[in-house]
Amino acid sequence: MKNVVLLGSTGSIGTSTVKVVEDLPDRLRLVGLAAGGNRGLLLAQARRHRPEVLCLADPANAAELQAEVGPATPVYSGAEGLLKLATLPGADIVLIAIVGTAGLAPALAAIRAGKDIAIASKEILVMAGETVMREAREHGVRVLAVDSEHSAIFQCLDRQPAGAVRKLWLTASGGPFRDAKLWPKESFATITVERALKHPSWVMGRKITIDSATLFNKGLEMIEARWLFDVEMARVGVVVHRQSIVHSMVEFVDGSLLAQLSTPDMCLPIQYALTYPERVASDRVRTDFPKIGSLTFETPDPERFPALDLARQAGEVGGTLPAVLNAANEIAVEAFVNRKINFPEITETVRRTMAAHQVVSQPSLEQILAADAWARRAAAGGGGIINYKV
Ligand code: MG
Repeated sequence: MKNVVLLGSTGSIGTSTVKVVEDLPDRLRLVGLAAGGNRGLLLAQARRHRPEVLCLADPANAAELQAEVGPATPVYSGAEGLLKLATLPGADIVLIAIVGTAGLAPALAAIRAGKDIAIASKEILVMAGETVMREAREHGVRVLAVDSEHSAIFQCLDRQPAGAVRKLWLTASGGPFRDAKLWPKESFATITVERALKHPSWVMGRKITIDSATLFNKGLEMIEARWLFDVEMARVGVVVHRQSIVHSMVEFVDGSLLAQLSTPDMCLPIQYALTYPERVASDRVRTDFPKIGSLTFETPDPERFPALDLARQAGEVGGTLPAVLNAANEIAVEAFVNRKINFPEITETVRRTMAAHQVVSQPSLEQILAADAWARRAAAGGGGIINYKV
């Protein structure tokens, strides 16, 4: 039996994780659940799974939940609560699916407490990949990827060392503006919020949907891959693959390529991370080849999607620069969604903020968080958004 702490239990990854646990009651048990503000769903999950501890972001909300679940199950709150859950003595693995930077401190705390971690929150490895991986090595714990691309690479690598890799290939759906004929570069300034929120393959949260349209999502994944698999950025490539059947690939030094394929379903990478190193039976995913027909691969257009080059640069320079890219992008996406800037200005804002940043190499957690805060201010004011006209 593996005891699982789930941080972010009411979001899209969180609810899929609960499904996976329900599929495998003899193998997985939820011992801690944390949610942001969805008290109703957290209560329902708690009644069904009877975890040892719970956590909600807001203390008043947590107190109400405490009254609802009774005194036998402590309900914590806020950042401190997340740390309590991440270091829960009985936990074997902590799955972190919290949006934003709030997952970073619990990830490091879990590692230092000797827990394996499964990461769904991109910010953790983008902002602090070097630190997280070093600490994981020092404490002898695993860092498992929940993102479908990184799970695919992890499965293909199958414990081969980084020296056996010529290139890691992340696949990208390409987002709603992948067609250069339909969406030439000149048309990008006219892209509306509504249009950018219409993703051709997925229904996801707003931030990640806009990130898929700019390809910043893939840029962040490049940086994650660089740290997770210990290869420099030059060995991380991106290929546009519209069908989203190949979840990513590894090209080995002998020229051989391994790919991981399936009909997309997040339950698959989640289950793999939670049951690793075992591969456990599941009926959720079936792949129908004749229905898929053909698989296509294209090179992403760097002119229309400069986010990839910016991410490559941030990953190469390292230090605090990836945290700055991440934070500036968050601010720019918000400004775009609020109609304060146009679509190409998302990338421009990130570029300007990165250019204005004094990089700290080998940063501490405090320096990373300071760079994050600086980038948010800089992107929103100084060299960023305020200078733009819509
Ligand atoms: Mg992904």
